[in-house]
Amino acid sequence: MCTWFTNTTAQNTVCWSVIHFLDKDSSKRHDSFRNSEWGPEAAEALAREVRVFKVPGGKDGKELTMAEYIDRTPSDLMSKVMLEEIVFDTWYGGRTVLLGDACHKMNPSGGVGGIHAIHDAVTLANWMSTLRLADEEKLGKVFKKYRNERYPVAKAAFATSQMLTHNFGKNLLSVLIREMMKRIPVWVFKRIIYKMYASRPQASFLPLVEDNAPLKPSYQYSLHKTLAINKELAKKATGSSTISNTPVTV
Ligand SMILES: Cc1cc2nc3c(=O)[nH]c(=O)nc-3n(C[C@H](O)[C@H](O)[C@H](O)COP(=O)(O)OP(=O)(O)OC[C@H]3O[C@@H](n4cnc5c(N)ncnc54)[C@H](O)[C@@H]3O)c2cc1C
Repeated sequence: MCTWFTNTTAQNTVCWSVIHFLDKDSSKRHDSFRNSEWGPEAAEALAREVRVFKVPGGKDGKELTMAEYIDRTPSDLMSKVMLEEIVFDTWYGGRTVLLGDACHKMNPSGGVGGIHAIHDAVTLANWMSTLRLADEEKLGKVFKKYRNERYPVAKAAFATSQMLTHNFGKNLLSVLIREMMKRIPVWVFKRIIYKMYASRPQASFLPLVEDNAPLKPSYQYSLHKTLAINKELAKKATGSSTISNTPVTV
């Protein structure tokens, strides 16, 4: 019922994770609505259950187990999270708007939830930068533009993240998909990567960053549209359409 993995970091440390798959019965015992399931005690309780799991490595013929890692992990750095997956349809109402996990909770297998939270913030800020008067009607209009731009991207990332759960799954389908993924042609792999990372919004009200990544970004709607709107507004206010957002290299 578990998958566990370790990975090394650039800081010469090791990170570890254990995924506990729940069925109908066990999911009742691990109810995500119980606060006790989220605290450090819950993480420690799960860690106790998985200490004996073997991991590759070991010295002088001695087997390595998860216990070696768990004992070296400060308890405040251990956390247990319950799986939540959903893309909500409603992202705003009145003067309130949602971004990140509040409106789209993706499977951690994809490793993109945080990226999309930041991209939401950039896109929302772009549209907000066109407002001179934040009354409810105008806010509603920019919230709608923000949601229209980000919702399809969040939906696609949600689907890709679900597909990537097979990297860790224990059932036959996951095993077959893993075998298939080892054999997919490079061009298919590139398409998957493009789908995951092509949407890279930049802030239109800051100096633009030169994007030198081999994977070109897709059309950045809010960047181009709000740049044009802000130029027009600047022209009206000062008679000049110059706004400072020349590219800088980072
Ligand atoms: C195991 C795991 C691995 C992941 N790996 C990756 C990865 O490799 N790459 C990646 O991009 N993403 C990853 N993610 C996803 C990423 O962590 C989230 O998508 C991201 O943190 C969402 O950011 P957020 O600001 O929307 O929400 P959060 O980071 O959840 O921030 C919300 C904040 O609001 C606070 N809060 C909640 N309620 C209240 C309240 N009533 N009053 C005041 N404050 C409140 C919370 O304490 C929290 O600090 C991973 C997630 C998990 C669970």
